[in-house]
Amino acid sequence: MIRRNWLRTQRVLLWICLVVLCTLFSGCSLELVDISTQESKDSSSSSITSQNRLRVIFLDVGQGASQLLISPSGSTMLIDAGNNDREQQMVDYLRQYGVDHLDVILGTHPDADHIGGLDVVIDHYEVGAIYMPKIQANTKTFESLLESIRDKGLKVKTAQAGLQLEWDDQVQVEMIAPVEYSEDSNNMSAVLKVTYGETSFLLTGDAERESEKAMLASGKDLSADVLLVGHHGSKSSTSLTFLQQVAPKFAVIQVGENSYGHPKQEILNRLSKNGTQVYRNDLQGTIEFASDGQHYEITTER
Ligand SMILES: [Zn+2]
Repeated sequence: MIRRNWLRTQRVLLWICLVVLCTLFSGCSLELVDISTQESKDSSSSSITSQNRLRVIFLDVGQGASQLLISPSGSTMLIDAGNNDREQQMVDYLRQYGVDHLDVILGTHPDADHIGGLDVVIDHYEVGAIYMPKIQANTKTFESLLESIRDKGLKVKTAQAGLQLEWDDQVQVEMIAPVEYSEDSNNMSAVLKVTYGETSFLLTGDAERESEKAMLASGKDLSADVLLVGHHGSKSSTSLTFLQQVAPKFAVIQVGENSYGHPKQEILNRLSKNGTQVYRNDLQGTIEFASDGQHYEITTER
């Protein structure tokens, strides 16, 4: 009798272990990608070590955008911070990633789904520099951001094409847009190209066709392995010529529940035809690309 009970207990314990393990492993998925550069022939480097990595984290902020970058030497950058209703979540995210200060903040453009959470972030954290394009918005959200910037004694630096950001010695951060002034807020979006070794990211805010055209005409090298799809996958962005120039292997769409029909099927088809693998915050939660300069380790929340 005692033995039978003991066996049953063992079986129950085994089941509990299995369930716990399954839950742990299905909770997040991880993918290792070799971008097959000439230098990556040394297969001993197939796994990315925890140090010397550039982490680009596409935070799940619902219908909005926010990217947290952590450099190989630990410098931090926050690009946008989702909507006003995500303020607490933003602060929680930063705490979760162990961020205690932000070397750079970039508000890509004044729309609420991008700058909404920035005021609270600025209130809570030490900030090195803040960049925003030269365009105003007549909204409470924008006013509130300006107030936080003033209270902190920060001075906004103008986001414009041609700027090289001094952020980490090993990572090149160049502003590709806005190339020229536009009355349209989306087309004033600051666009960053981030390059680390052989790996690269193009982070586009809500830049639309007008800005894409200007970027193409500027003659800058737009090619990148990872593209943040412009304007949440709207039809007004990711024109074919632009996509062909960037030629990304991976694309991230920062999108949540919305009434705009984002992302548009037409854009998903275009990305698929281009051979680009798509990641989406609404389907996969927070998405992280960690680069050692040659490989990407891609982690999704679900
Ligand atoms: Zn937006």
